[in-house]
Amino acid sequence: MTLRRYLLLALLIALGLGWWLWQDRSPLSPVYVFNGVVGPSHKTVLPPPAPAIWKDHDQGSQSRLAILLTDPDSAWLGLVHGLRSMGVPLRITRDYKEALRHRVVLVYPTISGRVLPAEALQALIRFPEKGGTLIGVNVEGGGMAATFGFTDIAPARTRQAFTLDASHLRAQQFDDALERTVPFSNTASGADAAGSLGYLGAQAPLASFEDGSAAITARSLGSGHAYAFGVDIGFMLLTGYNNREQGVARSYVNRYEPALDVVLRLLQDIYRQGEPHAVTLNPVPQGKSLAVVISHDVDYTTSLANANAYADYETSVGIKATYFIQTKYVRDWNDQVFFNEQGLEPLRKLRAAGMEIGSHSVAHAMDFHRLPLGSGDEQYPAYRPLVRDKEKTEEATILGELRVSRFLLEHFLPDYQINSFRPGHLRNPYVLPQALQATGYQFSSSVTANNSLTHLPFRLTYSRETAAPSAVYEFPVTIEDESAPPLGSRLPEALRLAERLARYGGLFMVLIHTDITGHKLEFERGLVEALRPTAWFGTLGDYGRFWQARDRIGVDILPNGQQLVLQLSVPVPVDGLSLDLPMGYRAVTASPSGVSYTQQGARLVIDKLTDDATLTLVRDGSRPYANVPFGSRP
Ligand SMILES: [Zn+2]
Repeated sequence: MTLRRYLLLALLIALGLGWWLWQDRSPLSPVYVFNGVVGPSHKTVLPPPAPAIWKDHDQGSQSRLAILLTDPDSAWLGLVHGLRSMGVPLRITRDYKEALRHRVVLVYPTISGRVLPAEALQALIRFPEKGGTLIGVNVEGGGMAATFGFTDIAPARTRQAFTLDASHLRAQQFDDALERTVPFSNTASGADAAGSLGYLGAQAPLASFEDGSAAITARSLGSGHAYAFGVDIGFMLLTGYNNREQGVARSYVNRYEPALDVVLRLLQDIYRQGEPHAVTLNPVPQGKSLAVVISHDVDYTTSLANANAYADYETSVGIKATYFIQTKYVRDWNDQVFFNEQGLEPLRKLRAAGMEIGSHSVAHAMDFHRLPLGSGDEQYPAYRPLVRDKEKTEEATILGELRVSRFLLEHFLPDYQINSFRPGHLRNPYVLPQALQATGYQFSSSVTANNSLTHLPFRLTYSRETAAPSAVYEFPVTIEDESAPPLGSRLPEALRLAERLARYGGLFMVLIHTDITGHKLEFERGLVEALRPTAWFGTLGDYGRFWQARDRIGVDILPNGQQLVLQLSVPVPVDGLSLDLPMGYRAVTASPSGVSYTQQGARLVIDKLTDDATLTLVRDGSRPYANVPFGSRP
């Protein structure tokens, strides 16, 4: 080889090295590399789906609402998730005799001679006559028309909504037009349109479809009651929870869309009416009427610095918020790099102020929902997602977005665990529940309340399908700051919505980008001042942990002479659990003795539960028995 060739080779090597250095270190480089930071080191492996087993829910006392499951191959998981969100204790059985030992029985997903033997149908017919409350879903046959008070049925896929009869006692809590009419299907969605069963010849139904047939029949028989629903409520609940509403929702965000909540409140009301000892769990901690979570998306160059202005305000009024941080270390079509050395200072300040830090992905891709899942090996700094334009992101994967952002935030916030995630533009891939679970997240805020048809949080399912529950919970967005008119002018409207949700303990999740302060920060001030006296405020993590623990609590009531014994099984410790007791009862003792509580009206708030607990309830006005130990709070 000649000298000239050696020189040429050396020059090429030098150029290559220089390019590599420039690429990673230069201020003009598209990628910001923190020296020596590499990770995560472990591989992410998606768990296989673990299909729900109805038998796991076959436990508890007769005070619970019994679900008589007539077909396990149905959307019963939606019913379980929904009733749990609403705080109604339930038990599932396939044994009609077991079911009929309860005072309130919901037969799901259908009643007919095909799914129930003749003796079961006969027993169901006698049940309301003897004082029970029977709720049938899709009563297709079985000789039960007279029990439910109709003469014939008319199945169809052409119905879209049902309307409650305002004069009906059970409908009186619903005084908003958006509550009175409940959408459940969009016939324009073709094969996705839901079927329904209209009941013909029903006297004074609780709700009717557009074509005049009854959607919910209601009949009193002696001291008992019978209700027949013509909509598959488990399927309807999953339609919302799985973000597959296909145009059923009447708005996208910032408005009231209580379709599922009306159904759940109705079921809770029917349960409380039929079970005089019913105790239900309130959705809001500390006995408050509304749960408010202020969340901020930090996804723009100036947003990190502005975030501190929001945090200063929040600190000044003693509330904590959740900050979803985009770990943006790649310059692209969207923006400059801002997750770099300079970005760490405002981030650490947020954390030092006690704010929750969540992930808002790496790339903030508009096509996040279409990205490939990825290998689970994605690592910083080799993982370099590049947003080319509004439509296209290259080299990005769903697992990369989740695991690399979480790794970086945890790396720079030692001893801190990232639990919450929100995707850019609320893009929601079908694999998100299991991808979140596999990458260590517990709480998702990835959809709007309106598109979920509910203002309550809910448990997600694997692939947003019907079979397997996910460990992750969803906390949908109520109010955001991107729709017109500007957020600052929408305070009165937002407060009216908050007032609606406070009637049943809804979640008020506020999303404010910290790209500017100005009218957005003013909106937050106004909101906090107005809601502070009655609402509970906390981060998504705070509320998520409460919700996770509440979701696993078992509630059972055992009558004991004139008293009721309330048994709470508490697998996960929870603070501020709030329960609604049977009307006219008050708690007089608690065990273990360290359990302290307060009661106002029918609402009981337990300060701290670390283990199973038992409370004794007596009728108001009656004195506790003499053997009740001292030391318990009235
Ligand atoms: Zn964003």
